[in-house]
Amino acid sequence: MFAQVNKYFDKAAAHLDYPPGLLSQIKACNSVFRISFPLKRDDGTIEVMHGWRAQHSVHRLPTKGGIRFAPNVDEDEVSALAALMTYKCALVDVPFGGAKGAVRIDSTKYSVDELERVTRRYTYELFAKNLIGPGVDVPAPDYGTGAREMAWIVDTYSTLAPGSIDALGCVTGKPVTQGGVRGRAESTGRGVYFALREACSYGEDMKAMGFAPGVEGKRVIVQGLGNVGYHAAKFIEGYGGIIIALLEREGAIYSAKGLSVDKVVAHRKETGSILGFPGAKDYPNSRDALEIECDVLVPAALENQITGENVDRIKAKIIVEGANGPVTADASEKLLARGVLLLPDIYTNAGGVTVSYFEWVKNLSHMRYGRMEKRFQERSNERLLEAVEHLTGKHFTDNDRGRASEAAGEEELVNSGLEETMIAAYAELRTIQRDRTVDLRTAAFINAIGKVATAYTQRGIFP
Ligand code: NAD
Repeated sequence: MFAQVNKYFDKAAAHLDYPPGLLSQIKACNSVFRISFPLKRDDGTIEVMHGWRAQHSVHRLPTKGGIRFAPNVDEDEVSALAALMTYKCALVDVPFGGAKGAVRIDSTKYSVDELERVTRRYTYELFAKNLIGPGVDVPAPDYGTGAREMAWIVDTYSTLAPGSIDALGCVTGKPVTQGGVRGRAESTGRGVYFALREACSYGEDMKAMGFAPGVEGKRVIVQGLGNVGYHAAKFIEGYGGIIIALLEREGAIYSAKGLSVDKVVAHRKETGSILGFPGAKDYPNSRDALEIECDVLVPAALENQITGENVDRIKAKIIVEGANGPVTADASEKLLARGVLLLPDIYTNAGGVTVSYFEWVKNLSHMRYGRMEKRFQERSNERLLEAVEHLTGKHFTDNDRGRASEAAGEEELVNSGLEETMIAAYAELRTIQRDRTVDLRTAAFINAIGKVATAYTQRGIFP
């Protein structure tokens, strides 16, 4: 996987005029920590767990990247994902270096108590090597982990670092009640939706593909009903996209008329499977459903889902990489040659780290966004409305008055910051894409490499 990321890097670097040494410095993974530690299982037996933390680039600190719990993860994958984080952060102007962590574990086969012991021990191991902290390296959720694990991490860190006033900033993606920020849970999926919306907003690009502009009415397939996939599907459905197929590990379901995401989730909760949803066609082999005719395909579960093996049978015209690395490099080339619009992971799923950045800033400032100014802003708005009424001699309806005077709270500010980030980044990407006649992934790498190169060049090399 790391070789694949570097392939994308090299393709973009060929369009740039940087010295080879500088490019090698950017590409290299600065450090990888590998750890084995024991877990006492609930039945008293002992099992050795294997974990990693890779810090790809320290051109900005802290480094940042999720922790994944997955059964097949290895050092190469963690290094590749850490590298993607470096480029992703640069692309969306989030001032962090890239990192990634992992524990090789199938979390579905362990009890909650066992997962807590694994998470806390892993955190301790990072702490003991100074590999976690608000100014050092800040993990977040990834595949197989979520707000629950982040709460265990912050509790462990705070216990180990008593009196550390910024301890809450040691990890992001926490529950709101533990220093998290409103909007983080759905941020990656919301960002995936914004990415699709931006791509669909350019009339000439859509016309060239035989589409009308907009997400509305597009037939969409989503793989994965986890954090990224569920929220992406919900936003796409909410803004008029038709979710025609949903894919999970046990199978997939299809309905030309469209599926209600929440009803499918409720059915899966009740029956233990996505299959058998009333009115939908079952695909016992989940991957087969990637090949269903559709307008938009959102792989939001795992890496390497569209490969040389199945790419010729993929019919989607727009592919939105919700997961990291779901399309292999050779499959990407084939899709691009066919004129498929491929929205790359380092842009598309950057919403998570963007809002993680907002959470980290909140933790360091020790105050909820909007707390100081919300009421003041609302009173100012009301005074303005009164002045308009006075001047015109007319009155606003209660509804209009309420909407016009309302000021933003934390969630509105976070969502607005995320939206601005995704819009600005897509505009930059599209400009590079057109100026240099490259695909969007190459444009994203060109953009990111330029920013990291500037940071390295200005800082010089120590000693
Ligand atoms: P998650 O663990 O919340 O969800 C993953 C989902 O995929 C689960 O529902 C799982 O059952 C499903 N799945 C597993 N195997 C599958 C298969 N063969 N077919 C279909 N579905 C399958 O993980 P997540 O946080 O949603 O992460 C998904 C991807 O998005 C990963 O590549 C991750 O690196 C990336 N990502 C996540 C975030 C984030 O904020 N969580 C941010 C950026 C990127």
